[in-house]
Amino acid sequence: MRFFKSKCFRTIAAIVILFATLLGTAVVATRKTEAACDHEPVGMPLRYVAPTCTKAGWGEFRCKKCGTQYRKIYPATGHSLKREKVITSPTCTQDGLESCKCTECGYSCNRKIPKLGHNFVTRTVNGQKISECSRCGYRKNY
Ligand SMILES: [Zn+2]
Ligand SMILES: [Zn+2]
Ligand SMILES: [Zn+2]
Repeated sequence: MRFFKSKCFRTIAAIVILFATLLGTAVVATRKTEAACDHEPVGMPLRYVAPTCTKAGWGEFRCKKCGTQYRKIYPATGHSLKREKVITSPTCTQDGLESCKCTECGYSCNRKIPKLGHNFVTRTVNGQKISECSRCGYRKNY
């Protein structure tokens, strides 16, 4: 009797292991199919969080092909900075400074306005050719 019980247990154990193995293979196979699917959404997202200037958003879709629910990430958009006012005007040789504000979220900051560089105009004075900056009068001799 004891022998029979033991044999029976072993058979059951073997069947359980066999099923577990089969199930495991099936799960792996399904996962492989999911990973291979390049998901195509069915209509509108089920849930949607819009991205902001600094935070990524996401949409939850159901796939037309494999039926899985998946999430698509939308990267943060970054600020849309617009000049508010000029703090320091740039000159030929020095950077200026301006204050900016984001048109989307109101974030404000200062940023530099690159220097203009000389605007040379060439003319002849007393038979000598000279180059002079039309803005600041800086002269470059030839
Ligand atoms: Zn899919
Ligand atoms: Zn912003
Ligand atoms: Zn100049």
